[in-house]
Amino acid sequence: MSERKSSKDQPTKICEMTPSSGSESNELKSLIKDPAYFCKNCGRSAASEENLCQPERL
Ligand SMILES: [Zn+2]
Repeated sequence: MSERKSSKDQPTKICEMTPSSGSESNELKSLIKDPAYFCKNCGRSAASEENLCQPERL
């Protein structure tokens, strides 16, 4: 149960994803399903602030 600091464990940044990226769209949908934050930089919304580059609480 140790905390790992691996780059592979980094959360997906919605800001870096394109809406038409096909296979990733299902993951994207789950990330933005119940948005609690929005990105001041990109204007996108997400359920978790970890998925945004400049998160701001809704
Ligand atoms: Zn952003």
